Amino acid sequence: MSDKDVLSFHYGWTYQTPARNFVFENRGVATSVAVRGNRRCEWAHPQALVEYSRALSQRSFGPATAKYRELGTAANLLAFNRLHALPTRNFQRGSFPEAEQLAPEQLSQARARARKSCAACTIGCEHLYALDSTSGSANVRVEYESLFALGSLCGISDAQAVLAAIKQCDELGLDTISAGGTIAFAMECAERGLLYAPWLRFGRAEALARALDEMAARRGLGELLAEGSRRAAEALGGEAAAFAPHVKGLELPGYEPRALQTMALGLAVNARGADHNRSGAYEADFSGQVDRRNPGLAAVQHVVQSEDRAALIDSLIFCKFLRGVLADFYGECSRMLHLVTGWNVTPEELRLCAREIVNARKRFNQRAGWRAEEDTLPPRLLEQALPEDERARLSRQQFAGLIRAYYRARGWSEEGMCDECEPLSGGACP
Ligand code: SF4
Repeated sequence: MSDKDVLSFHYGWTYQTPARNFVFENRGVATSVAVRGNRRCEWAHPQALVEYSRALSQRSFGPATAKYRELGTAANLLAFNRLHALPTRNFQRGSFPEAEQLAPEQLSQARARARKSCAACTIGCEHLYALDSTSGSANVRVEYESLFALGSLCGISDAQAVLAAIKQCDELGLDTISAGGTIAFAMECAERGLLYAPWLRFGRAEALARALDEMAARRGLGELLAEGSRRAAEALGGEAAAFAPHVKGLELPGYEPRALQTMALGLAVNARGADHNRSGAYEADFSGQVDRRNPGLAAVQHVVQSEDRAALIDSLIFCKFLRGVLADFYGECSRMLHLVTGWNVTPEELRLCAREIVNARKRFNQRAGWRAEEDTLPPRLLEQALPEDERARLSRQQFAGLIRAYYRARGWSEEGMCDECEPLSGGACP
């Protein structure tokens, strides 16, 4: 690695130090990796690369990234709430009456705030807050996903308690989405009598703190919670599996699938499970290009394109928040790659590479025993409309039709198998 290397992840954060130590905090696991570099990576076209990156920096100050600069990733929390897209009380509702207390506009009124960024980033989406008004140090990194998972999803509106829970997760090495999703699920199980834990109820901040501690230590109820919502539901039996909030064992992120149905498809078919970083299909729902509560077949192409772009961004290793800045996505990716490596890979070849990355993930899953019934959502989301919005309803039959259309668009079999998709021969990538 050289001093010029910039690695930026979202929910896979990377910290660079002079000693080249990196800490990856990924979904459910914290891993420390030390890399000792002993030579400098040469750029193929250094002068042109510097000019290109300067121009890109300028563009990154534009409107496409303004909300991340000003309010961080939580910028849309209140908009989500208005659209009934803010998952609440383990996806029993899509809006949280106390959402304003968790919104960044409100958080910054009551406490110190600081902005930070990954190395060389011009956007700076990382917003840190002090725990309360008396604490001068802004040291809790707040993301939308953490606010939703440990706030509205658990029915907790006390901002200080939610910030404390975020800090607790960071210190314990727990992923906030998976931890919050599993605890919200357990809260509902306890309320329904599927689990004996009288202390564990929606809205109780002290219960959230205790559950996080027990989960990290695998103590008491934590022995079950540490397994995540899928395995916990299997252990509890009964109706628990109907509302365990996961896809392929990965807890759902903060996008209510019934209110954002293009995203619903993206979450169901993604190889990694309910991962909003491998499918940003919610952009189509918010863009007005589709009817977000009934997108029909239009959802399929949006999901395919979103997955392909995310796969390429992750492979080229640049921040996903730049995607809105690139007017010609594949063309600019081709140019960046050329300036750094000297490779002449056309935009169309990169498009094929992206597609092949998605196919490779699929084949990996198949070898690991993937079954078609795993491409789905929690049963309750396919059976019940959102209580606040009768139009926010998924039909099991129509959803299955969309999944089959997605398989066809990918060139997979009707059953979703990618066996016959040959890896690219001849090699689009050097
Ligand atoms: S915008 Fe991207 S690179 Fe910048 S701070 Fe946020 S995650 Fe890091």
